[in-house]
Formats: sequence, structure tokens, C-alpha cells
Amino acid sequence: MTKPETIKFQIEEEEPPGITATRNELVVEEEEPPGKLAVTVGTAIINENSFLAPATRENWNDWKWQFRNRITTVERLSTLTPLSAKEKTQLKLVTTKYPLSITPYYLSLINTYDPDDPIRKQAIPSFEEIALGSIGFEDPLGEKRDSVVPGLVHRYPDRVLMVLTDICPMLCRHCTRKREWHNGGWVRTPGEIKTMLDYIRRHKSIRDVILSGGDPLTLSTRRLEDVISKLRQIDHVEIIRIGTRFPVVLPHRIDDELCGMLSKYGPIWLNTQFNHPHEITPESAAACERLLRAGVPVNNQSVLLRGINDSVATQTKLCNSLLKIKVRPYYLFQCDEVQGTEHLRTSVETGIKIIDGMRGHTSGLAIPSFVIDLPEGGGKIPLQPNYVLTQTKEELVLRNYQGRFVWYRNPKDKKGPEPTAETQIANNPFSDSLNETKRELQPVRVRNENRARLRP
Ligand code: SF4
Repeated sequence: MTKPETIKFQIEEEEPPGITATRNELVVEEEEPPGKLAVTVGTAIINENSFLAPATRENWNDWKWQFRNRITTVERLSTLTPLSAKEKTQLKLVTTKYPLSITPYYLSLINTYDPDDPIRKQAIPSFEEIALGSIGFEDPLGEKRDSVVPGLVHRYPDRVLMVLTDICPMLCRHCTRKREWHNGGWVRTPGEIKTMLDYIRRHKSIRDVILSGGDPLTLSTRRLEDVISKLRQIDHVEIIRIGTRFPVVLPHRIDDELCGMLSKYGPIWLNTQFNHPHEITPESAAACERLLRAGVPVNNQSVLLRGINDSVATQTKLCNSLLKIKVRPYYLFQCDEVQGTEHLRTSVETGIKIIDGMRGHTSGLAIPSFVIDLPEGGGKIPLQPNYVLTQTKEELVLRNYQGRFVWYRNPKDKKGPEPTAETQIANNPFSDSLNETKRELQPVRVRNENRARLRP
């Protein structure tokens, strides 16, 4: 991605909020006893006097107050969560390379006394970010290479990615675009956005535009509407997608003004990133509900993260809980090979085992596609457990969720090429067990010859 013309953040009255001289400091409000918050926000175990008391309930629910009061220094963090002297020293070192930013809301979800808390691991830096920092790439997906004009990535014929800003309400420790954090806060200038729109107008194959960042919802609703309304005037743009973590890390942003604006320009789809069941709160559920009522479907793209959500139990709970708030589990991403994230990456087998452990044990609607976004812009590859043990043009041997092998008659396809007669045993990871159980399969096959009998 080409560095934007305007690196320094422009201080504007309305947007993005809170990037002012006092951005790193909590604003201490006058205490208003009736509006004073109790420690009942989220699952916080936070010292009320050190953090929540200055905030009024009204402020707490105001996304601009939340944004202004993000925790961006180790000193400030240490007043809100226990950090040893060693940790403070280490974190200060880490943040010289990879800065820190946590919304008060998201911090309130952390059990600050649990060093392994899954919310903490996503938000609070780890020394391993620099200790293992030489592993991986700055830009593993080759986004810079695929940028056709500044901020516009055109990799697939019918889709483009518009990167409108590099500002996010929270800096997720596993972020694929960590490289952009060095550049400070920027938003695309009107000139840059015009160049992007002109490119989209000229390329009639583009029917799907993804607004991305950073987080595009850091822009004011007015500025966002300016972009979306212009996209809507382009006939060949069929759908607009928004990639945002606001519903998870600062759900108050999904307010009536934003939803009212989005409802005018559908079809708009919103993809967000819940990674752990603890992120599903009354506030985030209400934000998703407001989006759905505005006609904006919400899909979830979680990232598989070591020690955070890398178990069947956690993923099942996450996905079932998402369905309860009417959010569709869409992708489970293998964590990209990004410098500074190695400590959070899992093996590919872990992801496949998770999908294997979910299939058959929860509804199919709750099971995301496990995908790897290939390096160098190779695109997304779905991976799933191997259920096809052998295949010929007459039959397949399939494995079900209970581990049973079942013969399945392969109907002849009159149109198109015949399936190959080659069996796939040689390349099959189950070939050993399959060879051992070949004889056991025969009775199954006999039993299956009259399939009508097997059907209930
Ligand atoms: S919200 Fe998205 S772009 Fe922003 S830091 Fe988190 S993962 Fe990265």
C-alpha cells in the first residue's frame, strides 16, 4: 500500500474523534453521583476509583468519549491493570515498535488479574512481539504490490479493497497490517478518495467494494456517507462491504445515526471479528441488532489465535453464541505470517482439527470456513478435514463425524467429463487406517447396497 499523502493527522472538529493534544489522557469528568458508573460494566475487575469513577454513564455510552479516552501508554495502562516493574519495562520497549491502543470498553472486558485472559492477549502487548519479531513478513499478503492507486487494492477481477484510514479504535496484537502502525494516524485525503473512485468507475468488472482500514468506521458518519453515496452512483458496483471491529471493541459506534445512513445505501454487508465468546456482551449484541434492523447483514471473520480461541470448545461456544445474536460465522482465518504475531500463531492442523471437532456436533450454520490467506496475494484457500477416503468413478468411501467409514454410490454424470478412475488412497492422510480397515468396509458396503433400506 502506498503511503498516503497526508501522514499527519488532521485535527478536525468531528472526525475521527479524540486525536487531539490530550488523546493519551483520560478526561476527568466532574463527578455526577447519579450518573456515576459502578463496576458492573462488562466483566471488569478494575479499580473503580482509578478508572470508572471519572466516567459518567452517558460518557461511557458515547463512542467519541470512548475513542478519546483510549489507553495508549504503558503508564496509563499500569494504573488500570496490574503490571510488574519488569512487564512495564518490557512493554515500553515493545510499544516503541508496536504501539498500544485499547478502548475503555474493551479493557473492561479483561479479567485483569488473569495473565492468560483471552481479551488481554488480544489487547495488551507481549514482549514476544519483538523477541520473535524477526519471524514472518511485514506485508505477507503482498497488499503493497497489488495497490493500483494509493489505498486501492485490486487483486481479484470483480473486487477491490479501499483502505480509507489506518486508524483503529484498538490495536489488535495479531493485526495483519501492523506495518502501518509506524505511520501514525492518517486518513485518505479527498483527492486520494477521488482517485480511487475514478479507478472504480473506469473498471466495469468491479462489482464488490470492500471498505477497510485500519477501521473505516473511525471516519465520521458524514465522511463515510460521502464515500458510500458516491460508490452507490456507480452502476456496476453491486455490493459494498465494510470490514470493521467496532461492534467488538467499541460497539457504541454503531449508533442510530450510522445505521440510518447505512440503511439508505444497501446492499451493504458488514464483516466483523469476534474472536472469543467473552466479546459477546449485551452492548455488542445490541450493536449487531441495530445493524440488522438497518438491513445490514453481519458476518464474522475470526482469527485463529494461540491460547485465545484454539480449541474446539471455545470455537463452538463462540460460533453458537454468534448465531444467538444473529451473526453468521463466516471465516476462521489462519493467523497470517506477520512480523510481531508469531507467538499467537497456531499450526494449520489445529484449525483443521477444530473444524473436524465441530462438524456434526453443532449445526452447520455455526461452522465457519477455515481459510489460509496465501502469501504474496495468492488468495484464500479453504481447508477442511478429509472426509473423502477413496474415490472412483463408481463409488466413494467417506468418513462421517463419528469416524465411521461409509460407502457411497457415485451416480454417473451424463454431462461433462467422467470422474477419474484413480483412487486417491496414495495421497490420503487416512490411507494407513484405511488399508487396515479395508476388509471391515466390505460388510458396510454390502449393507449399503440397498440404500433405500438404510434411509429412515
Ligand atoms: S481492528 Fe483490524 S485493522 Fe485494526 S488493529 Fe484490529 S485487526 Fe488490525
